[in-house]
Amino acid sequence: MSLSGTVLRFVLPKEVPGPEQLTIAHAGDILPITFVRNPKARRASLRVDPAQRRIVLTAPLRMARATALGFAEAQAGWIAARLKRLPSRRPFVDGAELPLFGEPHRIRHRADKRGAVWREGSEVHVAGRPEHLPRRLRDWLTAELRGRLAPLVQAKAAKVERPVKRVTLRDSRSRWGSCGPNATLSFSWRLVFAPPEVLDYLVAHEVAHLVHLNHGPRFWALARTLCEGPIEAPQAWLKRNGEILLQYGA
Ligand SMILES: [Zn+2]
Repeated sequence: MSLSGTVLRFVLPKEVPGPEQLTIAHAGDILPITFVRNPKARRASLRVDPAQRRIVLTAPLRMARATALGFAEAQAGWIAARLKRLPSRRPFVDGAELPLFGEPHRIRHRADKRGAVWREGSEVHVAGRPEHLPRRLRDWLTAELRGRLAPLVQAKAAKVERPVKRVTLRDSRSRWGSCGPNATLSFSWRLVFAPPEVLDYLVAHEVAHLVHLNHGPRFWALARTLCEGPIEAPQAWLKRNGEILLQYGA
């Protein structure tokens, strides 16, 4: 056994630096941007990340920082306009409004009461210490959504005669629903704010993925038959309001 002529090299994976917070000056304002390196990027690009309420500047690994920053500076007017248009945060605090399955409700903190969370008319009451309110409310909202989703998923899955093993609720900010391997469906817990027809559509969509893994014509035909109403209205609703849903409890 000879090792001659063989040079073994251990190549370390190139480290991708984490995101950096940068600022650029524009018309007397300081605009914050998040700078990220992406090994797959071929050029510098800017995008709006409404969920994290930020503008992201992405650059290839080898691009000089100054070059990337220069690209962003040339787009400063666009960045300023998009930052202004970001939806405002809607934290869970006493007196704040939130839509429960599309219906406006007001949050009431009940320091005097024991127990957890309950609904009274168009109010959602949360007992306990104020610092626990956001978590308690979110747990309750997640349970409410689960209660609505479970029968919908069962009914639609029965129609296509496919079993569903599990329904998980996630804090996904990039997608409302997904159909994973092993017949697991996932949904964003923030859908608790959306009207029932939007839930119905998303369940129809993910259940249709149990049969068709793509978004081809046969997938859409099945999704339509599984949906109670036309699919266009809920799709348009999500496009219009999706960014706002992400701001609740954020
Ligand atoms: Zn899909």
